[in-house]
Amino acid sequence: MLIGHQRIWDFLTKSVQQNRLAHAYLFAGPAQVGKLALAREWAKWQLCEKIHPSLHPPLDKARAKLSFGREGVGFPCGQCRQCVAIERGQNPDLIVLSPRQEEKDGVVKTLEISIKEARELQRQLSLFPYSAVRKIAIIEEAAAMSNEAASALLKTLEEPSAHSLIILISGNLQAILPTIISRCQMIKFSLVPEPEIIAGLKNTAVRENLLKEAVNLAAGRPGLAIKLLAEPDLMAEQKKTAADFTKLLQSSLVARWEMAKVLAQDSAKAQEILSGWLLWLRDRLLEQSGRGDLVISELPNEKSLNKYSVGGLLNTCREIQKTQAILSNPSFNARLALEVLMTKI
Ligand SMILES: [Zn+2]
Repeated sequence: MLIGHQRIWDFLTKSVQQNRLAHAYLFAGPAQVGKLALAREWAKWQLCEKIHPSLHPPLDKARAKLSFGREGVGFPCGQCRQCVAIERGQNPDLIVLSPRQEEKDGVVKTLEISIKEARELQRQLSLFPYSAVRKIAIIEEAAAMSNEAASALLKTLEEPSAHSLIILISGNLQAILPTIISRCQMIKFSLVPEPEIIAGLKNTAVRENLLKEAVNLAAGRPGLAIKLLAEPDLMAEQKKTAADFTKLLQSSLVARWEMAKVLAQDSAKAQEILSGWLLWLRDRLLEQSGRGDLVISELPNEKSLNKYSVGGLLNTCREIQKTQAILSNPSFNARLALEVLMTKI
């Protein structure tokens, strides 16, 4: 399901149709805005038998009778062998590499993508495509690659194979080697306007007010809206996070450090929460700059943020972004970074 990002979709599908495909793309933008969903859908579109019938000549009479669409037009059918195999995570022409997570003593840690995993990806990409024209690799959080893994990937990017396509995804460009960024075509994802998310989710069987509440809390991130609707506990937690944020900005240093301690227990979750803070601050910045029409979310008790000037809000955003860059490197002390942040916002 694609929500928003129509211009990006049109650009990418046209690139394939017009044979202008780059060897590697970097999808950049806020977390849960739809980068991975679009990457998977685009991969499916490239491999789908209905979209590209000439790439998949029918093997038997029964399949020959299937009504195929016009070459290169429309959305993936979701029913052909290629689409079904992708849905099951079993299509050998689509490799998705995601950082693994490890839980130890109640603390969830996102592990680095290791050199071993990067080499396995290289090996798979070097094989000839199984049933389509190209092999596609999606690296879910490029910033999570270890230095060795990033160097190995760089080699692949420097000597691209004619039948492979790499899509890197990241919410944190600062943590990616500039040499990697320079070898990819950058695709920037923005927040999705509220009406587009509501339209995309209108067929889900949820009450209208619940849908509106989830979309407001998701602040332009369709992936988060879907998750909030599926998990009532998460919805309650997100409401609390919003309320806690405004409270935090007025609380003492002791309370702030307590918050740093809690956030440091799960770096991946802390990243998500900090991204949420940035989106709320973005909206307050827009309001203060006279562009209230572009605001996408409301905060409880948001008047408490009125004491911040535009400069103050910008500084707070910068400090949060710096902390996010530190948190994306697992070798840094997350708690220390968060405590420093709490003294600066
Ligand atoms: Zn299909």
